[in-house]
Amino acid sequence: MTDLFSKFDPLIQQREALLATGVKDPFSLVMEAVKSPTVAVCNGKETILLGTYNYMGMTFDPDVIEAGKNALDTFGAGTTGSRVLNGTYQGHKECEEALKEFYAMDHAMVFSTGYQANLGIISTIAGKGDYVILDIDSHASIYDGCKMGDAEIVAFRHNDIEALEKRLKRLPAEAGKLVVLEGVYSMLGDIAPLREMIRVSKEAGAMVLVDEAHSMGFIGPNGRGVAEDQGVLEDVDFVIGTFSKSVGTVGGFCVSNHPKFEILRLVCRPYVFTASLPPSVVATAATSIRKLMHGSNKRAHLWENSKRLHKGLKELGFQLGTDEPQSAIIAVIMPDLERGAAMWEALLAEGLYVNLARPPATPANMTLLRCSLCAEHSAEQVEQILGMFAAAGRNVGVIS
Ligand code: PMP
Repeated sequence: MTDLFSKFDPLIQQREALLATGVKDPFSLVMEAVKSPTVAVCNGKETILLGTYNYMGMTFDPDVIEAGKNALDTFGAGTTGSRVLNGTYQGHKECEEALKEFYAMDHAMVFSTGYQANLGIISTIAGKGDYVILDIDSHASIYDGCKMGDAEIVAFRHNDIEALEKRLKRLPAEAGKLVVLEGVYSMLGDIAPLREMIRVSKEAGAMVLVDEAHSMGFIGPNGRGVAEDQGVLEDVDFVIGTFSKSVGTVGGFCVSNHPKFEILRLVCRPYVFTASLPPSVVATAATSIRKLMHGSNKRAHLWENSKRLHKGLKELGFQLGTDEPQSAIIAVIMPDLERGAAMWEALLAEGLYVNLARPPATPANMTLLRCSLCAEHSAEQVEQILGMFAAAGRNVGVIS
């Protein structure tokens, strides 16, 4: 018998070697209690959260929680069925209405996760004989959607407009083409030059899908994302998003103005062949989305937090993923996995949680400490965070 697990041996060895150095396992932390969007208890210690995607701090919003409780009381714990059978409740329709209003678009389709939204939409609209042209740093769910649909994958260098244009020009003029971009790339927190990329895509006759998972609620005058901020939302054929970040719960969606969009509800397998979201989840999502339409004060404070943390970390001598803050994600580049893990642990001991990210999730084999800010972080917390980075960075020898 061939042990099908033998392919994992290199990873098992790498993990064992890391744990042998005495560091805690950075991928099995438990949140023992969660006190607010920015504070939890980890290993018995009160810890500032700087590694969640809770950008707008909606997880503890009183209206959001009340809507969830009401739905739980009125509609029960779950739907026990697919959206196309018994799993479409009033709440799912209200959630789709909220999304249509939020984006000012004609159609909205809610999935059980953002991962499934990418998987479903990409695999259904780009099939055998079609081309998906994507940024090489695209999220796993985008790659998986391409594989599932069996389209030809054409990757181009990260955020490189010319490379995209060159790839597009090499493809057969009559072939179906879908260009897939992200508003914010979540590893380094950098944004895409969507305006130019969408222009060259349209010139080549391609449809465009933009994943705005990390920008919804925060970037753009109405929080619609990077495409809105760059004035090109009208030219985007499909926006993909998630409820697991700014919205503060779980779920995914696609919004579009395509006149034939609704047919996807019958042919998109990750929509049809899975249970729909629980009523409490769609109720919290709809309430949160409606509140995010009026979130300009929170957006302004989140920008302040992001700018202050970026400036402070740079002044301390850390190497960052972007020269200027471009989103609510600030990536601190570590010299290697060992020092990254040690730094992660030192920060946790100080009372700060950040995300440790490593290949293959990261570009260019980088080990990153990814910080993601929340609109609910106070200015004092940001100063505290900088103090913790200074102490941990000196202890581990990442800064002098
Ligand atoms: N797209 C991007 C760009 C993401 O970063 C993520 C999650 N990190 C997803 C999609 C998937 O979202 P979800 O958590 O809702 O599955």
